[in-house]
Amino acid sequence: MGTNIDNFEKYIGVFEILSKCTDDYLFILDFIEDHYNITKRATEIFNFEQNDFYNALSIIGESVYPDDREMLNNNIQDIIDGKSNEHDLEYRWINKSGNPVWISCRGQVVRDLDGRARYLIGRISELGRKNKIDNITGLYREVRLRQDILKMDRASAKKGFLLLIGIDNFKDINERYNKEVGNSTLQVLAQCITEAVGESASVYRMSGDEIMVFCKGLDSILSDPAKEMYKKIRSVVDKKINEKGYRLFYTISGGSVYFTEEDNTGIQYIEKAEFALRLAKIRGKNMCVCYEKLDYSEYVNKLKMQEALRKAVENNFEGFELYYQPIVNMEKACIHGAEALLRWKNGKFGMVSPGIFIPLLEDSGLIIPVGRWVIEDAMRQCLEWQKICPGFRVNINISFVQIKKSNVISDIDLCMEKFGFDSKNVLFEITESGELETGYSTQNILESFHRRSLNLAIDDFGTGYSNLRYIKEMMFNLVKIDQAFIRGIRDSQYDYMVVKQFTELAHSLNLKVCYEGVETEEDFKCVRELEPDYIQGYYFSRPVTSAEFEEKYLGKENVF
Ligand code: C2E
Ligand code: CA
Ligand code: CA
Repeated sequence: MGTNIDNFEKYIGVFEILSKCTDDYLFILDFIEDHYNITKRATEIFNFEQNDFYNALSIIGESVYPDDREMLNNNIQDIIDGKSNEHDLEYRWINKSGNPVWISCRGQVVRDLDGRARYLIGRISELGRKNKIDNITGLYREVRLRQDILKMDRASAKKGFLLLIGIDNFKDINERYNKEVGNSTLQVLAQCITEAVGESASVYRMSGDEIMVFCKGLDSILSDPAKEMYKKIRSVVDKKINEKGYRLFYTISGGSVYFTEEDNTGIQYIEKAEFALRLAKIRGKNMCVCYEKLDYSEYVNKLKMQEALRKAVENNFEGFELYYQPIVNMEKACIHGAEALLRWKNGKFGMVSPGIFIPLLEDSGLIIPVGRWVIEDAMRQCLEWQKICPGFRVNINISFVQIKKSNVISDIDLCMEKFGFDSKNVLFEITESGELETGYSTQNILESFHRRSLNLAIDDFGTGYSNLRYIKEMMFNLVKIDQAFIRGIRDSQYDYMVVKQFTELAHSLNLKVCYEGVETEEDFKCVRELEPDYIQGYYFSRPVTSAEFEEKYLGKENVF
């Protein structure tokens, strides 16, 4: 039997007071009058016009998510029929925007002296709200941060910041160890941040490995307090790692944003902090970057360009074209072939430099389809030119992304088969980069180029990541010395000596050498003495369209 009361009125006053003390919604359902009274705040979230209404069961029924109505009705019927005094359900209500919201509803049945159900009195809590705390770190979750930012008043807004902290290479920790280690790393980081921040700010767990610090009401932001905070956190983290004897070493990056007057939608700050953190990671990790409008617009512009590139690729490689730059064979003093260089022209962005669009293609993985297109188009063109100039060769650039993330060898095989192309007439240029360095797979792929007698060149040799191992292991046929050395050769004894020594070293290993970036006659005279096998540069020709190449250079004797 439910609680029996005969004098109910005195409880109404208590109800009003209690409503103000909790995040939950309190309610009284009067079965006899079919009347409902609920905390006023509920009318802001759910579809009730008033917080106090008759025709209660039918109106409540309407507000319940359709799938859950039957369950609720059955429970109410059992209470009315005297079969149950239990009301403890989790189900969904529909909010003002029409979306379901999970609630937990618990109530006590109050019966009159005849045992008839008179009232159901209880509380309703939004489960989402209750879960404002993250289970792993014990920190508030992002929902709470969003509420807190919205609550922030304009005055304190001007002197505060968000600082988003992320663990560098967190994925590696998860992969190398396991999820538990990942989680406990996060827990420790959360403790470190809470310790470093103290009372001065609030801390929230964001998605993945990211933790947000929200600081407001500062006296001044002139001294970049966000950066100071980052440094403090870092030193606490370092200390902790040190104590643990470096068993699990990691670094952290930070992205900060100050609240400024011009921005008035608070939530955007979260995105800005996320953006700043991403920049910190791109710029090398283990650092804190502060949000700057200019960086952001550059980034947005890049995204737009990336989108345009995607559309161009989908649109049958619209706007992409291969230009060709002659490569001069020094021994025979003739054009030996050409390097295919990709160009992209777009209605909105105009002619975009490969230095800009190639990295965008690489970042988005679009370089894989585009690279395939390049291989096919260059081979097709080369075959056509071989009819006029037998033995004509083409050099094709291959990105490390193609090597690491696609089966570039099979793309090449397919193309050669399709055209009946002879492998000795093509050479693939691969730029030396740190990206190539890591992992077995690269080594394997380079070896399979070698096994198939596909000619390979190291492009931009000398630009920082040069790995003599590759040269030693003879996986390459040609070394293309980077333009920077050639540019410096006439003025810098050092550059001259480097080029000379590398050329001799390469020759002694039976490798061919190509100099790029030979621009002037003086350049040419100077480098000629060093006896490179091939030369490429504006001195002979800039990269030109295939039509121009055909007209000016193809099959022409003594063009230089
Ligand atoms: P890269 O492979 O080192 O190509 C040589 C670059 O030097 C070309 O720039 C060429 O126009 C330029 N160049 C040639 N001679 C001279 C000279 O005498 N002086 C100067 N200052 N520059 C000269 P471009 O065409 O702008 O290409 C830039 C880079 O974009 C290429 O550098 C290459 O890394 C990449 N790239 C171009 N086409 C492709 C492609 O089809 N696939 C891939 N993955 N990358 C490509
Ligand atoms: Ca190249
Ligand atoms: Ca190069």
